[in-house]
Amino acid sequence: SHIHLMRGRFAPSPSGPLHFGSLIAAVGSYLIAKTHNAEWQVRIEDIDPPREIAGATDTILRQLEAFGLHWDGPVIYQSEHIPRFQQILEELKTKGLLYACNCTRKQINKVSDNGRYPNICSGKNLGFDGEVAWKLRHGQGQYDFMDLIQGECQFPQDLYQEDFTVRRKDGLMAYQLAVVVDDIDAGIDHVVRGSDLLDSTPRQLRLYEVLSKEPPLWYHLPVAINQDGNKLSKQNHAEAVSEEKAGPLLVEALDFLGQQPPADLINQSIELIMDWALEHFSLQKIPQKQQIPYFD
Ligand code: GLU
Repeated sequence: SHIHLMRGRFAPSPSGPLHFGSLIAAVGSYLIAKTHNAEWQVRIEDIDPPREIAGATDTILRQLEAFGLHWDGPVIYQSEHIPRFQQILEELKTKGLLYACNCTRKQINKVSDNGRYPNICSGKNLGFDGEVAWKLRHGQGQYDFMDLIQGECQFPQDLYQEDFTVRRKDGLMAYQLAVVVDDIDAGIDHVVRGSDLLDSTPRQLRLYEVLSKEPPLWYHLPVAINQDGNKLSKQNHAEAVSEEKAGPLLVEALDFLGQQPPADLINQSIELIMDWALEHFSLQKIPQKQQIPYFD
């Protein structure tokens, strides 16, 4: 490809082992980085202790190694950057871009017909201390974007005009803030992840805007769903990918990503499967839509 890329990442949350859905994000981001001679960083997004499962980080790293997904540089731990996130929040606060909100979910649902937060507290000037969420004021811009897999992406205006949480009521950093600050600080120039996160992208673009940084290129992969049409996730108990079946599962992931691996690849070593994948990788072949993976 003629696109020049420098550094990508895979950013799992340690809320459980990798399942087939997260394997897709790992394999997709790895192949896109490596076929562009870019570095591939692994970042553990460990800033939500209540959702963390003991030992998950070690399991994830062991799974990545078993699947031939070798990262560049040290593993990054997001929890080490909390002072940095706090510093950014203070900067945004000083600029008048944040406000505090003490609404409960119940109160929000009462006045919102679509689940969005109707910026209830934006004019209230509540104090930032105590059990309040910190909201980022929405921008005036359009946060449409070009996705290199999904094409042109647009969302309803009410998404663009929703003030969203950057620091949670429980004092924890919000995903949107942490992911953008870390991607900026790490020099990530392309983000590859599941298309379940597509509607986070306009919010992240708003953060790039207020931080005056160039956003990365976006690649949103199809997500794996189960027979009921729900995304495979830790919440619905998607099975961990087994290291013993790494070869067949890697071939399955390549098939899911539309790469048309030959049937006999399944009997090869991880190294040979990965060599084949890197040599034959085609971004154009990645399907846009969610799919039910085939397991035998
Ligand atoms: N920690 C997030 C997740 O696992 C990462 C999302 C992203 O790649 O931006 O869903």
